[in-house]
Amino acid sequence: MQHQPGPMIAEAPAPTPADVNFPPGSGPMAWFDQVRALLIRTGLPPEPAVYDVLWRYVRDEDHDLSLAIDRALAGDGLTLGDLLSLRETLLGQMSEAQVNQLIAEAHGQAEALTRRIETGQTDLADYGRAIADGGERLAGPMDATVLAGLLEQLGAATATMQAANARLIDELEQAAGESRALADRLMQAERAAITDALTGVLNRRGLMMAVERAQAEAGATGTPLALAVVDIDHFKRFNDRFGHAMGDDVLRFVARHLADRLEAGGGSVGRLGGEEFVGVIPGATAQTAAGRIDRIRAELAGQVLRSAVDGSSMGRISFSAGVAEHRAGQAADQLIERADGALYTAKRLGRDRVVPDRG
Ligand code: GH3
Ligand code: MG
Ligand code: MG
Repeated sequence: MQHQPGPMIAEAPAPTPADVNFPPGSGPMAWFDQVRALLIRTGLPPEPAVYDVLWRYVRDEDHDLSLAIDRALAGDGLTLGDLLSLRETLLGQMSEAQVNQLIAEAHGQAEALTRRIETGQTDLADYGRAIADGGERLAGPMDATVLAGLLEQLGAATATMQAANARLIDELEQAAGESRALADRLMQAERAAITDALTGVLNRRGLMMAVERAQAEAGATGTPLALAVVDIDHFKRFNDRFGHAMGDDVLRFVARHLADRLEAGGGSVGRLGGEEFVGVIPGATAQTAAGRIDRIRAELAGQVLRSAVDGSSMGRISFSAGVAEHRAGQAADQLIERADGALYTAKRLGRDRVVPDRG
């Protein structure tokens, strides 16, 4: 298990929720016992965010979350960073209940609008009848009194119609405003569901969608497509030295650094998790993409990072990257896996470098 600052370091294999052995509580207390055991085992701080994720884990509320935590516990251990980024992924996704509520609101608005238009139609039908009636009477015997009565009747119908029209216009304007607000909220919710809350680049879900879209386009147009997995070097050391909050600033900085450079060329950037990012680079072969990523790497590694608070130096940071080129018929995660293999080589060769996949 990885070194983890905290009250205790667990050496024994991490337990699964089912076999944590604590004084047996029942119902929620049993879950509480399991969360407590996990906190002790992992040395994670008992903060609300941590508790929240572990609570969902012991209750097995989210399959992806449980799987990721099981893996971390069985492997290198569950770090605070891992856990917080899992939480972001989880909360970034719109729940089914939220989607249903938005849909229900949209339905409600559509129904209200329909009712308003129906009212307008009734008014219009009344007006039509008054005019038709007037028309019939015009065809009959006519004198000044009949004509005056007829004009009065038509005048009244027109006034009613004008009032109804004005009301309908107001209501239509209001309905249009409400629809716009709802559409804005839907768009915001959609964006939040694919955005990494910490860095603002795509989250894992958005990233997978972007990779799949780029693959489909590469297939359709016969153009190459490359993908880079980027991992910050010795990031744990940085966190240990400057604190987690400063580490978060670095994650934001690196995400922006990548996004500014890759998005300009039609590419996209996502956070795979922790301190790992993916660049999707349409139109590039593995070789050209490796060249581009390497320039981006050199630019980052050449800068000294300074604290925005007091200007003190935090030294330089670098990343390693592996680059792979899309092959027809390969799934998004296979492409990522190949780039990840090349990243592993880059780390092994000494970090601060970019390695294209040779497979
Ligand atoms: P390497 O060069 O081999 O990649 O070393 P490393 O230290 O970067 O890699 P390692 O996997 O050992 O550690 C990754 C670190 O990233 C540990 C974890 O605390 C940190 N981390 C993960 N997510 C976050 C986060 O959201 N914020 C902060 N500040 N740190 C995070
Ligand atoms: Mg990593
Ligand atoms: Mg790293």
